[in-house]
Amino acid sequence: MRKLTEKEVVLATHNKGKVAELQALLEPYGITVLCSDDLGLSEPEETGKTFAENAKIKAVTAAFEAERPAIADDSGLCVHALNGRPGIYSARYNEPKKNGFAYAMEKLNEELGDSTDRSAHFASAVVLAWPDGTVNVFEGRVDGTLCWPPRGEKGFGYDPMFVPDGYDKTFAELPADVKNTISHRARATTALVKACL
Ligand code: IMP
Repeated sequence: MRKLTEKEVVLATHNKGKVAELQALLEPYGITVLCSDDLGLSEPEETGKTFAENAKIKAVTAAFEAERPAIADDSGLCVHALNGRPGIYSARYNEPKKNGFAYAMEKLNEELGDSTDRSAHFASAVVLAWPDGTVNVFEGRVDGTLCWPPRGEKGFGYDPMFVPDGYDKTFAELPADVKNTISHRARATTALVKACL
């Protein structure tokens, strides 16, 4: 596993929610985080079939363009009664309306219908890539239950309908530091920190 000796990394994401979470996770380790948006990096097409493949595409592209190490996360919500959907298509599940996640959550709840199995997990693959194409891959997940109606204002995406196991509040109601300790992205990023810093 290659170590990260550089103190500056690019975060290969245009998602503001992810930027905030990854910054909070990495800055305590003395890592300065530069954002794709600030560097004007491109947003490559996510053609992979897994979270890890998509995270690799994003991290390798950003590292190459920015000429620095880059970190990308690919993540999503896997609903067990829907055979793991929307999974890698979680962001695209929002279409065609693209009017925020109220629509995506409603669609998900409708698809679940009367199903008594409301279990789901968030999954994340976090990839650290270097401009020469070296990649380190880390994965994390958090299990929970989907509630309806959605509750809470914090976080992003499907957070208002996800109650992590062991809590009675949704990710959108829990303080950011709690989500940032138990989330799929936190678990994958912690594995990265342990292995590479
Ligand atoms: P990506 O940018 O292609 O990885 O898309 C990830 C999508 O998964 C987001 O747009 C959200 O729909 C969903 N997602 C991933 N992580 C979270 C999270 O922590 N909370 C809520 N939704 C998430």
